[in-house]
Amino acid sequence: MKSIEVSETGGPEKLKYVDRPIPVIGQNESLIDVLVAGVNFIDTYHRSGLYPRPLPFTPGVEGVGIIREINGTAPSDLLVGMRVGWVVSTGGYSEVVTLPHQELIPIPEAIDDAQATALLLQGMTAHYLAVDSYNIKPVDLALVHAGAGGVGLLLTQYIKSLGGLVIATASTDAKRNLCLENGADLAIGYSEFHERVMEFSNGGGAHVVYDGIGRATFDESLLSVRPRGSLVIYGYASGPVPPIDLGKLTNNSIFLTRPTLKHFISNREELLWRANEVFRANSNGHMNVRIGGRYALKSASQAHQDLEARRTTGKLILEL
Ligand code: NDP
Repeated sequence: MKSIEVSETGGPEKLKYVDRPIPVIGQNESLIDVLVAGVNFIDTYHRSGLYPRPLPFTPGVEGVGIIREINGTAPSDLLVGMRVGWVVSTGGYSEVVTLPHQELIPIPEAIDDAQATALLLQGMTAHYLAVDSYNIKPVDLALVHAGAGGVGLLLTQYIKSLGGLVIATASTDAKRNLCLENGADLAIGYSEFHERVMEFSNGGGAHVVYDGIGRATFDESLLSVRPRGSLVIYGYASGPVPPIDLGKLTNNSIFLTRPTLKHFISNREELLWRANEVFRANSNGHMNVRIGGRYALKSASQAHQDLEARRTTGKLILEL
């Protein structure tokens, strides 16, 4: 079978297209023929070594495929031939994967493979950010950085469905237009975004700032939060945030959190509940998916280059 392998960390060129034997299915695992593998920013952290993983490894933390074989006792909602998705697992950039039954999510028929893939990691992230990391209430103001990205577009739509207001940041006019088309009340560039947030909120600031950019935006994000508001740092697209002086939070008694999806899908019950919330949001028109790029498996390195060069919008997928 064909697969992508990283045997040393570094740039996108370290993603090698290789032939490998089909993996041996373990106890209480399913063997799955992959249809679509999702590309996520975290894959670039694994590839570059920012989030270290034992070498060699196959990147990719989510996908959708068909169960070919079941070993051991599977939950009653899983059958051979079914279409399932998975998220926060490893090794997805591959024609065939083996995964624990506990991590598999049945995909509703009405949702196609690409859409389902986008809704898994990025959709469930948007969901926990808007509901758990900070609970959006009507007319709450949220600042959503990288609003035209995979998480950003879904998060913006979902906040709007909960009655919140969104200021989105994005780097180009085209991206800002996309933010507005997806419901943002205001779309701005990164230059002096703090001033723009203050202007929009009559000096009050945002109830919550969602920041997946990290190092480049952190200081201004902190200034943009209103007293007793929340700063949610959920990613490091520009690099990790250096250690901070807690005194910086005192000015506005801010809640600072650095969440990660796996703790919000902590067992199969919560995983299926959140996935179904997101599928429902999609069918209600509250999380419409934009597929921003489709690549063949062997072009995974191109997908990483495009993502890191900020050339993309919405979800990137590898089609198997
Ligand atoms: P995106 O599609 O949002 O792509 C990243 C975007 O970040 C770019 O398009 C770009 O938008 C913006 N950006 C700003 N500065 C940089 C930079 N220096 N280099 C690259 N991009 C930059 O990616 P995802 O939706 O996959 O992920 C968004 C963030 O969310 C990432 O940080 C990711 O790690 C994080 N994440 C965290 C999760 C969690 O549970 N904690 C789960 C899922 C994602 P623009 O050009 O408009 O600035």
